[in-house]
Amino acid sequence: MINTWIKSVGFGVAFGIWALGSAQAKPLEVVSSFSILADMVQQVGGDKVVSTAIIGPESDAHSFEPRPSDAKTLQKADLVLINGAHFEAWLPRLVQSAGYQGKVVEAIEGIPLRAYEEEHEPGHDHHDAHDHHGHDHGEYDPHAWQSLAHAQVYVKNIAEALIEVDPENSVYYSQRAKDYTQAIQQLHQRFVEDFARIPDQNRTVVTSHDAFGYFGQAYDIEFLSLLGASNQAEPSAKELAGLIDYMRDNHVKALFMENISSPKLLEQIARETHAKIGKPLYSDALAKAPHAASTYLGMMQWNGEALLEALEP
Ligand SMILES: [Zn+2]
Repeated sequence: MINTWIKSVGFGVAFGIWALGSAQAKPLEVVSSFSILADMVQQVGGDKVVSTAIIGPESDAHSFEPRPSDAKTLQKADLVLINGAHFEAWLPRLVQSAGYQGKVVEAIEGIPLRAYEEEHEPGHDHHDAHDHHGHDHGEYDPHAWQSLAHAQVYVKNIAEALIEVDPENSVYYSQRAKDYTQAIQQLHQRFVEDFARIPDQNRTVVTSHDAFGYFGQAYDIEFLSLLGASNQAEPSAKELAGLIDYMRDNHVKALFMENISSPKLLEQIARETHAKIGKPLYSDALAKAPHAASTYLGMMQWNGEALLEALEP
């Protein structure tokens, strides 16, 4: 009798410890708005997080409409990460419909934002930066992840958010953030040297949408865009002609498709200007794995190398 009692107490204690242990070991459910952020979260969070993206690889964040399944994804979240700077205009409605009560952290917090400037887009009339499809980009460029220097601020913000929600693993997150930041800085340093070798007359390129301004700032490359900030507004015939003239006058040598945009217009411009088409650039979404650009760091390396390949004499 006593024996049985001791056994059951023993079992109870053992069960209690097991339950506690498994509760702690359960990974944090972190939901990010798009694939690039989700990869950064995975790099910092390691096996302590399950990282999910609402907008997956190869998908255009600008034309995104939340589905009912996205509300379910949000309901399971312990933490939500977004870019911020009006990149996710659809988010407040989704948070509301999901009844999500947890933290929503903006990864872009603390980064000096680049204002959209009209003179950098000779072919594109920019009055419609605020488009009306619910993808309001605002007057500041949200694509700050395209700078390897700014990405280090993203990593810091992500680490701080993970530590706040899961302080027990703070040492783990801090160490991983430190290693990841070092890898990002190394690639940045390499690109500073590589892009310094590009001659002045080769420093202008054309892409589909205005996503590479921060990349351009970092390595002194001018990016002209066809579809503006929102990846939506098609240029008028007059704007297109203006861009083609500008490219001819300035001997622009390279055009780049993006993984999220239709190539048709760029192909037409390439025919008319004899500029060559480079490898596709990854702007707002990662490549589907397995692919060199299926992680953030891999994507930045891919983009940099594609640009260097096209611009180096
Ligand atoms: Zn974009």
